[in-house]
Parts: sequence; C-alpha cells; structure tokens
Amino acid sequence: MFRRVLMRRAYNVGRYEAARSHARLLLNNPKERTLARSVMVRSYWNEQAFQALIETASEWEDDLARSYCSLAIERLSATDSGKKLTSSKQGRLERLRGEQPKPKHAMEWNSTDMAANFSQEGERLWFRYPQGYVYWDMPKGFDLSSTHEVLLWLAAETLLSPWEPSTRAPFPSIRACGERPSLSFSAGTDSTAAALVMPDHTLLGYHRRSFDSMLDHRNAERLIGHLNGSGEREVIQIESNHELIRTHHDKPVGFSSDFACAVHLILLADHCDLGAIGFGTPIDNTFLWKGRKFRAFEETHYFTYWTKRFQEAGLNLLFPISSVSEAGALMIVKQSSWVDHLNSCMRGDGTKGCGRCWKCFHKNGPLGRTFDIKSHEIQTYLNKRPMPTATHALWALQTMGHEDELPDMAHLFEQDFSWWEKVYPPGFDLLPEPWRKQIEKRVRAFLPVMEKPYELHEINHFDEP
Ligand SMILES: [Zn+2]
Repeated sequence: MFRRVLMRRAYNVGRYEAARSHARLLLNNPKERTLARSVMVRSYWNEQAFQALIETASEWEDDLARSYCSLAIERLSATDSGKKLTSSKQGRLERLRGEQPKPKHAMEWNSTDMAANFSQEGERLWFRYPQGYVYWDMPKGFDLSSTHEVLLWLAAETLLSPWEPSTRAPFPSIRACGERPSLSFSAGTDSTAAALVMPDHTLLGYHRRSFDSMLDHRNAERLIGHLNGSGEREVIQIESNHELIRTHHDKPVGFSSDFACAVHLILLADHCDLGAIGFGTPIDNTFLWKGRKFRAFEETHYFTYWTKRFQEAGLNLLFPISSVSEAGALMIVKQSSWVDHLNSCMRGDGTKGCGRCWKCFHKNGPLGRTFDIKSHEIQTYLNKRPMPTATHALWALQTMGHEDELPDMAHLFEQDFSWWEKVYPPGFDLLPEPWRKQIEKRVRAFLPVMEKPYELHEINHFDEP
C-alpha cells in the first residue's frame, strides 16, 4: 500500500525512474499489477523512451500496454525514416520553448481528467501537457469555470492524441449543441471559400502564433481587416503557442493534429454559443487520399470517429467545401470581391506573394498572378514522386499550359482536368442539417456540377493499391 503511494507520488512529479523502481516491485502482486504496468508504460512514454517501452511491455496483454506499444513502434519507425530534426534545429526549438511564459501556479499533468489540465489567470488560459505548458489569450469575459468539461476534453484530444492514448478515453459527459456556426479560418484560399459558402453569421476564428517565426501574418491581416472593417463577417483572432507541443516529438512547429487548428474555437464554444465548427478541407483531403487516390471518405474511421467526438461536445463537424476541390475553391473566391484582399503565400509582404513558393504556383498562379515555374521550391515539389496534391497540380499545370514540366507523367495529361473545378454532389451528404441546405445552395450558385460517371472515382495517379 505504502509503495503504491510512493510510486504515484514519484510519477506525478515526473520522477519516472523512481516511479518505475517502485512499480517493478509491485508487478508480481496481482492486485497492483495493472496500476504498476500502467506506470511503467506511461513513464517510458513521457520520457519518449520508446525502445525501453517496447522491450518492457511487448508481452503484456492489457489494452493500455498494447496501444502504447503500437504507438511506440510507429514513433520509432517515423524517426528512423529520416524525419528526425537536425540537432541545430532541436537546439533552436529548445531555446524557443525555454523562452515561453509559465503560469504563476504550477499544475501537474493529469492523464485521467483532461479538464484538470486547464487553468485561467486573467484572460490567459493555460494547458498543462506532459512536457510543459501552452496558453491562449482569450477574449475579455471568457470564463473557464463556465466552460463545459467536454470541450476541454475534446481540446486536449486534438492537441495530444497522436502521443497520448489517454486523451481518447470516453468523455465524462455530453454537451448540448450551441446555435452559432464557426469556421477555423486561416485566411487562405480554401478557408476563404468555406467562409463564402457558410452562413453570414458564421464566426471565423483565426489562430495567431504568439512567437516570431518565418510565418508572415500580414497577408492574413489584410483580409481579416477587410472582413471585420466592412462588417461582412466577424473574425476573432486568438493568440497561442500551442504549436510548440509537437516539437517535443521530433516535429517542427505546427498543429498537433488536423483539428488542432480549431482548438481556440472548441475552447470558445460556450463563450460564443457555438454549435458547429467548419474546416476548409477540399476534396483533395477528403475524398482523395493525399490528393491522389479516391476513397469513400464517409466510411473512413477518421470521419466517423471525429464526427462522433465533436457531436458529443455539442459541435457539428462541418466540411463546407467537401464537394469542392482546391480548384473549385479558387473559382469560388475568384467570384468574390474578397479576392483582392486575399493571398495564400505565407512569405508575401502583405500585398503580394513571393512568386517562388509552392502556394504561389498552385494557389496564386490559377488566379492569374505571376510566379516563376523554374524556382527551386516549385521545381522540387513538381519533381517529387508521388507528387504532393497531385490532382490539383496536374490541373494547374494543364490550365496554365505547363504540361512539359512533367515529361514522365505525359500520359496523365491525356485527360481533360476541367471537371476538377466542378462540384461533386456526394460531398453534400457529409453535411448535417440545418447547415447542409444553406451551404449546398451557395456552393451550387458558385460552381457547375461534375458530370456522371464521376472521373474523381477513377483517380489513382500512381497506381497505388
Ligand atoms: Zn509565395
């Protein structure tokens, strides 16, 4: 009994080696075995000691050990395949993390109650994760204590699920749906098209990185300024450093998961009475796998799992442009006056794109803006096999007359890609009412419909199984 207390205490303050020595002595006690194993597995995981985790737990039959083992194997193989950051980058990231603010009152990471990992100091909302803290600067009047616990659980899951299986536990309760729709808004082409097809009272939520980086917010600010200034849409900007979480896992600064780009909206859902969160995800990432192979998106575990999780948090998960490709999104924004205030390039000066990046090629190019097809970055992407966002890139090359850039893929240009700009009606089936009716009407007003049989269903550019 006493040893159990010592083990827990050591674990909770992050003295993992000590926690494991206690755990080892409890492993042969049938009553204590489950807890002891869980401490062994979780402590190795928190230290990112994947090899040791696998060696210790691979024979254990319980669910927790199994799921951590398979995650550890995944992580090891990802690291082996050369994705590991160089040591100079690691050093920079460590410095950056060291410069981040910390809450006045320290907290311990709690893997059983996700809501207990949040605290509020003034307008700042803190989140404790196994390796540290991140924060959001919330609008005036935001109150953590009147925020439904399940929103905090969902937020934690979007931030940590690739590394913390505990965040995928069943939610302790469910939240009733709010009224207002919202959209995770990056101010790029896809999310601008999504904003144009969603209802006018949709709240657009822009995530603002709180620390300096290569990313230039000026292009985004121009569009946000226009939308707020003209009153055409309401855009809220929330500053946060949560993109640092995944740097603990050998990844560059960025979102932990696809849905982490909306974590600010999840956290604001009670404050703003939200009932839906939209993502500007085009066909390229829904019905196409990595933009190059067709799949029945509605049947994927990804879609069904996350739809259910958001639903339990009182939020409809919306893909307002799931019937539209990246090209369709471009055709939508082209028909709006917002296009004059929009530029997807993240290296532009606030008015223009750089003309040399991949976005300037496949987003700005088809809008008639200048770019250099021979630039190093554009050539690098075009020569990758399989090519990223392949269907869209093929369409862009064809419409702009650059087919000769891909001599090895000449056979793919035998087809006319103009269908790629049109609406794929099965995409509307992903939208729950009442949102579907409103969104479908707007999408159809912008774009013509693809002819049947759908050429999209045949897409598999690189003959992958
Ligand atoms: Zn650019």
